[in-house]
Amino acid sequence: MKVYAVLGDPIEHSLSPVMHNAAFREMGLDATYHAFRVGIHRLRDAILGADAMGFGGLNLTIPLKEGAMAVVEPDETAEAIGAVNTVSFRGGIRGHNTDGIGASLALRRYGVSLRGSHILLIGAGGAARAIAYQLSKEGAEIVVTNRTPERGQALAEDLGLEFRPFVEIEDLVRCSDILINATSVGMRDGDPRLFDGSILRSEQVVFDIIYSRETELLRDARWAGAKAIDGVMMLVYQGAAALEIWTGLEAPVDLMEAAVRAALEERREN
Ligand code: NAP
Repeated sequence: MKVYAVLGDPIEHSLSPVMHNAAFREMGLDATYHAFRVGIHRLRDAILGADAMGFGGLNLTIPLKEGAMAVVEPDETAEAIGAVNTVSFRGGIRGHNTDGIGASLALRRYGVSLRGSHILLIGAGGAARAIAYQLSKEGAEIVVTNRTPERGQALAEDLGLEFRPFVEIEDLVRCSDILINATSVGMRDGDPRLFDGSILRSEQVVFDIIYSRETELLRDARWAGAKAIDGVMMLVYQGAAALEIWTGLEAPVDLMEAAVRAALEERREN
């Protein structure tokens, strides 16, 4: 039996085990997927240990994605993004990043076309980096804003994008076709709004990559009649891309989506 895992801290709420175990069952693979709490100081040990024990592959989440660059051999995409969310062990310890392609496929699934679109990307963490890399490669015009300017500027500089200060957020929102929230704001009940949602318009697309709850931002977007997209399909597509890297087989995307939505529903009821 092949063992796969997601590593991170905190990790208790990860939906990756539910999603990947459902996929393994459907694909008839003798494989199992678990979540392990691993902090940054044990990341090297954990990755080398997983390799030594013959694991099939790993996913990495907060706060490990950037630190993993020093442990694995990154592929071209992970190198350009500067972060790793997937590790494979075939032919060495390879680092990949499927978050960007996950975001792109999620937007396409909802009929959003990217080429030439004006995107405001809020955030400059690991997820924002992956999204900025992929969507700019696909021809979107991206403006980045972030609470901590140095981090936002570094992202924009690395990827050749425009950075604007966070204080301008409402003007930036008004000028965008697609607004992407890649911050963690909205994950918890009572989080403050990033901006006054009443400025959103019905022609806009609002993509909030948070998947654990319906955020105020998405509620504001629906209220304005805008297209509101949550983070579930990004989670599913980044997972499907990882599964395909590990196994070389096509991932059962619809079934993975159903498993995630059922788990979220169950959580909401409890
Ligand atoms: P990260 O590296 O820790 O980055 C967090 C980002 O949020 C930074 O830009 C940070 O700004 C910003 N932020 C945090 N608190 C803020 C506040 N009060 N006001 C304004 N900005 C704030 O995290 P990440 O890995 O990029 O993940 C970000 C979010 O994306 C998380 O909610 C995560 O669950 C979600 N995510 C979803 C998927 C998916 O598949 N749907 C995949 C990956 C991540 P500063 O630089 O100023 O601190």
